[in-house]
Amino acid sequence: MSLFALYKSNASPTRREIDDALAGNLCRCTGYSPIISAAEKMYVELAENEHQEWLRERYNADGDISDDEAQRVDVLRSLQTSNQLAIEHNSKKFFAPQNISELAQIAEQHPAATILAGGTDVGLWVTKQHRELQEVIYTGNVMEMQAVSVSATHIEIGAAVSLTDAMQAIVTQYPALEELFLRFASPPIRNAATLGGNIANGSPIGDSMPVLLVLDASLVLRKGTSVRPVPLSYFYIDYQHTILRPGEFIEQILLPLPFAGEHVASYKVSKRFDQDISAVCGAYRLIKNGDRVGDIKIAYGGMAAIPKRADNCEQALFGKEWSAAVIAEAITALDSDFRPISDMRSSAQYRKIICGNLLKRFHAETAGEKSTRVYSYGR
Ligand SMILES: Cc1cc2nc3c(=O)[nH]c(=O)nc-3n(C[C@H](O)[C@H](O)[C@H](O)COP(=O)(O)OP(=O)(O)OC[C@H]3O[C@@H](n4cnc5c(N)ncnc54)[C@H](O)[C@@H]3O)c2cc1C
Repeated sequence: MSLFALYKSNASPTRREIDDALAGNLCRCTGYSPIISAAEKMYVELAENEHQEWLRERYNADGDISDDEAQRVDVLRSLQTSNQLAIEHNSKKFFAPQNISELAQIAEQHPAATILAGGTDVGLWVTKQHRELQEVIYTGNVMEMQAVSVSATHIEIGAAVSLTDAMQAIVTQYPALEELFLRFASPPIRNAATLGGNIANGSPIGDSMPVLLVLDASLVLRKGTSVRPVPLSYFYIDYQHTILRPGEFIEQILLPLPFAGEHVASYKVSKRFDQDISAVCGAYRLIKNGDRVGDIKIAYGGMAAIPKRADNCEQALFGKEWSAAVIAEAITALDSDFRPISDMRSSAQYRKIICGNLLKRFHAETAGEKSTRVYSYGR
Protein backbone atom coordinates (compact mmCIF):
# COMPACT_ATOMS: atom_id res chain seq x y z
CA MET A 1 0.00 0.00 0.00
CA SER A 2 2.82 2.39 0.83
CA LEU A 3 4.49 1.77 -2.53
CA PHE A 4 1.16 2.05 -4.35
CA ALA A 5 0.59 5.45 -2.73
CA LEU A 6 4.11 6.47 -3.74
CA TYR A 7 3.54 5.22 -7.28
CA LYS A 8 0.31 7.18 -7.56
CA SER A 9 1.75 10.39 -6.20
CA ASN A 10 5.37 10.60 -7.34
CA ALA A 11 6.55 9.93 -10.92
CA SER A 12 10.27 9.68 -10.07
CA PRO A 13 11.00 9.40 -6.36
CA THR A 14 14.48 9.79 -4.96
CA ARG A 15 15.98 7.08 -2.74
CA ARG A 16 15.15 9.20 0.29
CA GLU A 17 11.52 9.58 -0.80
CA ILE A 18 11.30 5.79 -1.21
CA ASP A 19 12.75 5.32 2.29
CA ASP A 20 10.25 7.79 3.73
CA ALA A 21 7.34 6.14 1.93
CA LEU A 22 8.34 2.78 3.43
CA ALA A 23 9.07 4.13 6.91
CA GLY A 24 5.90 2.67 8.43
CA ASN A 25 6.62 -0.89 7.31
CA LEU A 26 8.38 -3.21 9.72
CA CYS A 27 9.92 -6.07 7.78
CA ARG A 28 10.47 -9.37 9.61
CA CYS A 29 11.30 -11.55 6.61
CA THR A 30 13.61 -10.38 3.87
CA GLY A 31 15.21 -7.20 5.16
CA TYR A 32 14.69 -3.84 3.58
CA SER A 33 17.11 -3.93 0.63
CA PRO A 34 14.95 -6.10 -1.67
CA ILE A 35 11.88 -3.99 -0.88
CA ILE A 36 13.73 -0.79 -1.72
CA SER A 37 15.07 -2.39 -4.93
CA ALA A 38 11.52 -3.40 -5.84
CA ALA A 39 10.40 0.19 -5.29
CA GLU A 40 13.14 1.45 -7.59
CA LYS A 41 12.42 -1.22 -10.20
CA MET A 42 8.71 -0.52 -10.39
CA TYR A 43 9.70 2.67 -12.17
CA VAL A 44 12.72 1.43 -14.14
CA GLU A 45 11.02 -1.68 -15.46
CA LEU A 46 7.94 0.07 -16.71
CA ALA A 47 8.20 0.14 -20.48
CA GLU A 48 8.54 3.69 -21.72
CA ASN A 49 5.01 3.67 -23.20
CA GLU A 50 3.54 2.34 -19.96
CA HIS A 51 5.21 5.16 -18.11
CA GLN A 52 3.78 7.68 -20.54
CA GLU A 53 0.36 6.10 -20.07
CA TRP A 54 0.79 6.40 -16.31
CA LEU A 55 1.61 10.07 -16.68
CA ARG A 56 -1.34 10.62 -19.04
CA GLU A 57 -3.74 8.93 -16.66
CA ARG A 58 -2.45 10.91 -13.70
CA TYR A 59 -1.90 14.30 -15.33
CA ASN A 60 -3.53 16.01 -18.30
CA ALA A 61 -1.56 18.04 -20.84
CA ASP A 62 -1.58 21.08 -18.54
CA GLY A 63 -0.06 19.10 -15.71
CA ASP A 64 -3.34 19.03 -13.75
CA ILE A 65 -4.83 15.85 -12.38
CA SER A 66 -6.58 14.13 -15.30
CA ASP A 67 -10.36 13.83 -15.56
CA ASP A 68 -10.38 10.15 -14.61
CA GLU A 69 -8.54 10.78 -11.39
CA ALA A 70 -10.63 13.88 -10.68
CA GLN A 71 -13.84 11.91 -11.28
CA ARG A 72 -12.78 9.26 -8.82
CA VAL A 73 -12.01 11.93 -6.22
CA ASP A 74 -15.43 13.52 -6.88
CA VAL A 75 -17.22 10.20 -6.36
CA LEU A 76 -15.38 9.65 -3.09
CA ARG A 77 -16.19 13.21 -1.96
CA SER A 78 -19.87 12.70 -2.80
CA LEU A 79 -19.98 9.94 -0.17
CA GLN A 80 -19.28 12.52 2.51
CA THR A 81 -22.37 13.72 4.28
CA SER A 82 -22.83 17.39 5.05
CA ASN A 83 -25.15 16.68 7.96
CA GLN A 84 -24.20 16.27 11.55
CA LEU A 85 -24.06 12.59 12.45
CA ALA A 86 -25.38 11.17 15.72
CA ILE A 87 -25.55 7.42 16.23
CA GLU A 88 -26.68 5.58 19.34
CA HIS A 89 -26.27 1.84 19.74
CA ASN A 90 -26.41 -0.29 22.90
CA SER A 91 -26.26 2.89 24.99
CA LYS A 92 -23.04 3.97 23.22
CA LYS A 93 -23.08 7.28 21.38
CA PHE A 94 -21.08 8.60 18.43
CA PHE A 95 -21.29 12.19 17.19
CA ALA A 96 -19.67 13.75 14.13
CA PRO A 97 -20.45 17.49 14.14
CA GLN A 98 -19.82 19.59 11.04
CA ASN A 99 -18.91 22.94 12.54
CA ILE A 100 -17.37 24.43 15.63
CA SER A 101 -20.60 25.53 17.32
CA GLU A 102 -22.13 22.06 16.91
CA LEU A 103 -18.96 20.53 18.34
CA ALA A 104 -18.90 22.97 21.27
CA GLN A 105 -22.54 22.30 22.05
CA ILE A 106 -22.20 18.50 21.91
CA ALA A 107 -19.00 18.58 23.99
CA GLU A 108 -20.76 20.63 26.68
CA GLN A 109 -23.77 18.31 26.69
CA HIS A 110 -21.49 15.24 26.91
CA PRO A 111 -18.56 16.38 29.07
CA ALA A 112 -17.35 12.80 29.67
CA ALA A 113 -17.19 11.99 25.95
CA THR A 114 -13.89 11.05 24.30
CA ILE A 115 -12.81 13.49 21.61
CA LEU A 116 -11.67 11.49 18.58
CA ALA A 117 -9.45 13.11 15.94
CA GLY A 118 -7.16 10.83 13.86
CA GLY A 119 -7.63 7.96 16.31
CA THR A 120 -3.96 6.91 16.22
CA ASP A 121 -3.82 7.06 20.02
CA VAL A 122 -7.50 6.48 20.83
CA GLY A 123 -7.60 3.48 18.47
CA LEU A 124 -4.98 1.75 20.61
CA TRP A 125 -7.03 2.28 23.78
CA VAL A 126 -9.64 0.08 22.11
CA THR A 127 -7.46 -2.47 20.29
CA LYS A 128 -4.71 -2.87 22.92
CA GLN A 129 -6.35 -1.89 26.21
CA HIS A 130 -9.85 -3.14 25.31
CA ARG A 131 -11.40 0.02 26.68
CA GLU A 132 -15.10 0.55 26.06
CA LEU A 133 -15.75 4.12 24.92
CA GLN A 134 -19.29 5.10 25.88
CA GLU A 135 -19.47 8.45 24.08
CA VAL A 136 -17.26 9.58 21.23
CA ILE A 137 -17.17 12.95 19.48
CA TYR A 138 -15.31 12.95 16.15
CA THR A 139 -13.64 16.23 15.13
CA GLY A 140 -12.59 15.22 11.60
CA ASN A 141 -15.63 16.83 9.91
CA VAL A 142 -15.44 20.14 11.77
CA MET A 143 -14.72 22.61 9.00
CA GLU A 144 -13.16 25.39 11.07
CA MET A 145 -10.67 23.00 12.69
CA GLN A 146 -9.30 21.82 9.32
CA ALA A 147 -7.72 25.14 8.36
CA VAL A 148 -4.05 26.14 8.31
CA SER A 149 -3.14 29.77 7.70
CA VAL A 150 -0.25 32.14 8.23
CA SER A 151 -0.97 35.58 9.70
CA ALA A 152 1.51 38.44 10.08
CA THR A 153 2.71 36.94 13.36
CA HIS A 154 1.66 33.28 13.60
CA ILE A 155 1.07 29.95 11.90
CA GLU A 156 -2.52 29.11 12.86
CA ILE A 157 -3.27 25.40 12.78
CA GLY A 158 -6.75 23.98 13.36
CA ALA A 159 -6.63 21.19 15.95
CA ALA A 160 -8.04 18.65 13.46
CA VAL A 161 -5.45 19.40 10.75
CA SER A 162 -3.47 16.27 9.84
CA LEU A 163 0.15 16.09 10.91
CA THR A 164 1.12 15.92 7.23
CA ASP A 165 -0.47 19.31 6.56
CA ALA A 166 0.60 20.85 9.86
CA MET A 167 4.14 19.65 9.26
CA GLN A 168 4.22 21.20 5.80
CA ALA A 169 3.18 24.60 7.19
CA ILE A 170 5.67 24.41 10.07
CA VAL A 171 8.62 23.17 8.00
CA THR A 172 8.03 25.94 5.43
CA GLN A 173 8.71 28.45 8.22
CA TYR A 174 11.17 26.31 10.21
CA PRO A 175 13.10 24.16 7.66
CA ALA A 176 15.38 22.83 10.42
CA LEU A 177 12.43 20.82 11.79
CA GLU A 178 12.04 18.66 8.68
CA GLU A 179 14.00 15.73 10.09
CA LEU A 180 11.97 15.67 13.30
CA PHE A 181 8.68 15.51 11.43
CA LEU A 182 9.91 12.96 8.88
CA ARG A 183 10.75 10.73 11.82
CA PHE A 184 7.31 11.21 13.37
CA ALA A 185 5.65 7.81 12.84
CA SER A 186 5.17 7.21 9.09
CA PRO A 187 3.20 8.75 6.19
CA PRO A 188 -0.02 6.75 6.80
CA ILE A 189 -0.04 7.70 10.50
CA ARG A 190 0.84 11.34 9.75
CA ASN A 191 -2.00 11.50 7.21
CA ALA A 192 -4.52 10.41 9.85
CA ALA A 193 -3.07 11.83 13.07
CA THR A 194 -3.47 15.45 14.08
CA LEU A 195 -1.22 17.95 15.83
CA GLY A 196 -4.11 18.67 18.23
CA GLY A 197 -4.27 14.96 19.14
CA ASN A 198 -0.52 14.79 19.82
CA ILE A 199 -0.76 17.79 22.15
CA ALA A 200 -4.01 16.78 23.89
CA ASN A 201 -2.89 13.20 24.43
CA GLY A 202 -0.26 14.68 26.72
CA SER A 203 2.24 11.86 26.43
CA PRO A 204 5.62 12.86 27.90
CA ILE A 205 7.22 11.34 24.80
CA GLY A 206 5.07 13.02 22.14
CA ASP A 207 7.42 14.42 19.51
CA SER A 208 5.83 17.76 18.73
CA MET A 209 5.66 19.25 22.22
CA PRO A 210 9.31 20.01 23.09
CA VAL A 211 9.73 22.13 19.97
CA LEU A 212 6.32 23.77 20.38
CA LEU A 213 7.35 24.70 23.93
CA VAL A 214 10.59 26.39 22.86
CA LEU A 215 8.76 28.22 20.08
CA ASP A 216 6.25 29.64 22.62
CA ALA A 217 3.25 27.98 20.99
CA SER A 218 -0.15 28.66 22.48
CA LEU A 219 -3.50 26.91 22.26
CA VAL A 220 -6.98 28.25 21.73
CA LEU A 221 -9.28 26.27 24.02
CA ARG A 222 -13.06 26.35 23.61
CA LYS A 223 -15.88 25.41 25.96
CA GLY A 224 -19.30 26.30 24.64
CA THR A 225 -19.09 29.88 23.40
CA SER A 226 -16.19 30.82 25.65
CA VAL A 227 -12.70 30.75 24.22
CA ARG A 228 -9.42 31.12 26.11
CA PRO A 229 -5.89 31.34 24.75
CA VAL A 230 -3.37 29.42 26.85
CA PRO A 231 0.40 29.16 26.47
CA LEU A 232 1.36 25.53 25.86
CA SER A 233 3.72 25.80 28.85
CA TYR A 234 0.63 26.05 31.14
CA PHE A 235 -1.27 23.20 29.50
CA TYR A 236 0.29 20.15 31.20
CA ILE A 237 -0.27 19.55 34.91
CA ASP A 238 0.93 16.00 35.43
CA TYR A 239 1.34 12.70 33.59
CA GLN A 240 -1.29 12.78 30.79
CA HIS A 241 -3.19 15.36 32.80
CA THR A 242 -3.94 18.77 31.28
CA ILE A 243 -5.85 21.91 32.24
CA LEU A 244 -8.70 20.98 29.84
CA ARG A 245 -12.02 21.21 31.69
CA PRO A 246 -14.90 18.78 31.06
CA GLY A 247 -16.55 19.76 27.78
CA GLU A 248 -13.54 21.85 26.71
CA PHE A 249 -11.37 21.06 23.69
CA ILE A 250 -8.45 22.44 21.69
CA GLU A 251 -9.69 24.48 18.76
CA GLN A 252 -6.45 25.84 17.35
CA ILE A 253 -2.67 25.85 17.78
CA LEU A 254 -0.82 29.16 17.33
CA LEU A 255 2.87 29.10 16.51
CA PRO A 256 4.85 32.36 16.31
CA LEU A 257 6.71 32.97 13.07
CA PRO A 258 10.52 32.72 13.26
CA PHE A 259 12.68 35.65 14.36
CA ALA A 260 15.45 36.68 11.99
CA GLY A 261 18.74 35.07 13.00
CA GLU A 262 17.37 32.60 15.56
CA HIS A 263 18.53 28.97 15.61
CA VAL A 264 15.92 26.27 16.14
CA ALA A 265 16.39 22.51 16.26
CA SER A 266 14.73 19.41 17.65
CA TYR A 267 16.38 16.00 17.85
CA LYS A 268 14.72 12.67 18.48
CA VAL A 269 16.51 9.66 19.94
CA SER A 270 14.75 6.32 19.62
CA LYS A 271 15.85 2.70 19.40
CA ARG A 272 14.75 2.49 15.80
CA PHE A 273 15.26 5.32 13.29
CA ASP A 274 11.77 5.18 11.75
CA GLN A 275 8.35 4.54 13.24
CA ASP A 276 9.47 4.48 16.84
CA ILE A 277 8.56 6.47 19.91
CA SER A 278 11.25 8.71 21.42
CA ALA A 279 13.34 7.73 24.41
CA VAL A 280 14.31 11.41 24.57
CA CYS A 281 13.37 14.31 22.33
CA GLY A 282 15.19 17.62 22.81
CA ALA A 283 14.30 21.03 21.37
CA TYR A 284 16.35 24.21 21.33
CA ARG A 285 15.87 27.82 20.33
CA LEU A 286 18.80 30.22 20.51
CA ILE A 287 19.12 33.91 19.77
CA LYS A 288 22.74 34.98 19.85
CA ASN A 289 23.99 38.38 20.89
CA GLY A 290 27.40 38.47 19.22
CA ASP A 291 29.11 35.35 20.53
CA ARG A 292 26.93 35.34 23.65
CA VAL A 293 23.55 33.83 24.46
CA GLY A 294 20.93 36.57 24.00
CA ASP A 295 18.02 34.21 24.66
CA ILE A 296 17.72 30.45 24.88
CA LYS A 297 14.87 28.03 25.38
CA ILE A 298 15.40 24.32 25.92
CA ALA A 299 12.75 21.63 26.38
CA TYR A 300 12.73 17.85 26.56
CA GLY A 301 10.29 15.03 26.14
CA GLY A 302 10.99 11.69 27.83
CA MET A 303 12.77 13.29 30.79
CA ALA A 304 9.80 13.93 33.12
CA ALA A 305 6.11 13.09 33.50
CA ILE A 306 5.27 15.91 31.09
CA PRO A 307 7.14 17.61 28.24
CA LYS A 308 9.06 20.31 30.10
CA ARG A 309 11.43 23.27 29.77
CA ALA A 310 14.94 22.96 31.25
CA ASP A 311 14.73 26.14 33.37
CA ASN A 312 17.97 25.70 35.32
CA CYS A 313 19.98 24.79 32.25
CA GLU A 314 18.59 27.84 30.43
CA GLN A 315 19.54 30.07 33.41
CA ALA A 316 23.07 28.67 33.31
CA LEU A 317 23.39 29.83 29.70
CA PHE A 318 21.74 33.28 29.64
CA GLY A 319 24.20 36.03 28.74
CA LYS A 320 27.15 33.64 28.70
CA GLU A 321 29.53 32.92 25.87
CA TRP A 322 28.08 30.29 23.48
CA SER A 323 31.06 27.99 23.86
CA ALA A 324 31.72 24.30 24.46
CA ALA A 325 33.07 25.08 27.96
CA VAL A 326 29.91 26.95 29.00
CA ILE A 327 27.72 24.21 27.51
CA ALA A 328 29.61 21.59 29.54
CA GLU A 329 28.91 23.60 32.70
CA ALA A 330 25.22 24.13 31.80
CA ILE A 331 24.74 20.40 31.21
CA THR A 332 25.33 19.78 34.93
CA ALA A 333 22.25 21.97 35.62
CA LEU A 334 20.09 19.45 33.73
CA ASP A 335 20.42 17.20 36.80
CA SER A 336 18.36 19.68 38.80
CA ASP A 337 15.83 20.08 35.98
CA PHE A 338 15.01 16.41 35.47
CA ARG A 339 14.83 13.10 37.34
CA PRO A 340 14.19 10.72 34.44
CA ILE A 341 12.88 7.20 34.92
CA SER A 342 14.02 3.88 33.47
CA ASP A 343 11.55 2.11 31.23
CA MET A 344 11.50 -0.14 28.17
CA ARG A 345 12.72 2.67 25.93
CA SER A 346 15.77 3.66 27.94
CA SER A 347 17.47 3.61 31.32
CA ALA A 348 17.38 6.77 33.43
CA GLN A 349 21.17 6.99 33.15
CA TYR A 350 21.08 6.85 29.35
CA ARG A 351 18.41 9.57 29.31
CA LYS A 352 20.59 11.80 31.50
CA ILE A 353 23.59 11.36 29.24
CA ILE A 354 21.69 11.77 26.00
CA CYS A 355 19.91 14.99 26.99
CA GLY A 356 23.29 16.61 27.65
CA ASN A 357 24.73 15.20 24.44
CA LEU A 358 21.83 16.58 22.40
CA LEU A 359 22.60 20.04 23.79
CA LYS A 360 26.23 19.54 22.70
CA ARG A 361 24.93 18.56 19.28
CA PHE A 362 22.91 21.78 19.08
CA HIS A 363 26.00 23.75 20.03
CA ALA A 364 28.08 21.95 17.38
CA GLU A 365 25.46 22.72 14.78
CA THR A 366 25.06 26.39 15.67
CA ALA A 367 28.80 26.87 16.02
CA GLY A 368 29.03 26.12 12.30
CA GLU A 369 30.59 22.69 12.58
CA LYS A 370 29.69 19.87 10.21
CA SER A 371 25.95 19.25 9.82
CA THR A 372 24.66 16.87 12.48
CA ARG A 373 21.50 16.04 10.54
CA VAL A 374 21.09 12.29 10.34
CA TYR A 375 19.89 12.55 6.75
CA SER A 376 23.14 14.21 5.69
CA TYR A 377 24.94 10.96 6.59
CA GLY A 378 22.28 8.65 5.16
CA ARG A 379 20.49 6.26 7.48
C1 LIG B 1 2.23 3.33 14.60
C2 LIG B 1 2.23 4.60 15.42
C3 LIG B 1 3.37 5.39 15.44
C4 LIG B 1 3.39 6.56 16.19
N1 LIG B 1 4.54 7.31 16.19
C5 LIG B 1 4.57 8.45 16.90
C6 LIG B 1 5.76 9.25 16.90
O1 LIG B 1 6.76 8.96 16.22
N2 LIG B 1 5.76 10.37 17.67
C7 LIG B 1 4.68 10.74 18.43
O2 LIG B 1 4.73 11.77 19.10
N3 LIG B 1 3.54 10.01 18.43
C8 LIG B 1 3.46 8.88 17.69
N4 LIG B 1 2.31 8.13 17.70
C9 LIG B 1 1.17 8.56 18.52
C10 LIG B 1 0.07 9.33 17.74
O3 LIG B 1 0.15 9.10 16.35
C11 LIG B 1 0.15 10.85 17.97
O4 LIG B 1 0.08 11.17 19.33
C12 LIG B 1 -0.93 11.61 17.19
O5 LIG B 1 -0.55 12.94 17.00
C13 LIG B 1 -2.30 11.58 17.86
O6 LIG B 1 -3.21 12.32 17.05
P1 LIG B 1 -4.65 11.75 16.69
O7 LIG B 1 -5.32 12.80 15.88
O8 LIG B 1 -4.57 10.40 16.11
O9 LIG B 1 -5.28 11.70 18.16
P2 LIG B 1 -6.44 10.78 18.73
O10 LIG B 1 -5.96 9.38 18.88
O11 LIG B 1 -7.70 10.97 17.98
O12 LIG B 1 -6.59 11.47 20.16
C14 LIG B 1 -5.51 11.48 21.08
C15 LIG B 1 -5.94 12.20 22.37
O13 LIG B 1 -6.17 13.57 22.11
C16 LIG B 1 -7.52 13.93 22.44
N5 LIG B 1 -7.91 14.93 21.45
C17 LIG B 1 -7.77 14.86 20.11
N6 LIG B 1 -8.13 16.03 19.54
C18 LIG B 1 -8.50 16.86 20.55
C19 LIG B 1 -8.96 18.20 20.61
N7 LIG B 1 -9.12 18.95 19.52
N8 LIG B 1 -9.24 18.73 21.82
C20 LIG B 1 -9.07 18.00 22.95
N9 LIG B 1 -8.65 16.73 22.96
C21 LIG B 1 -8.36 16.16 21.77
C22 LIG B 1 -8.29 12.63 22.41
O14 LIG B 1 -9.45 12.68 23.21
C23 LIG B 1 -7.24 11.68 22.97
O15 LIG B 1 -7.16 11.83 24.36
C24 LIG B 1 2.25 6.95 16.94
C25 LIG B 1 1.10 6.16 16.91
C26 LIG B 1 1.08 5.00 16.16
C27 LIG B 1 -0.18 4.17 16.13
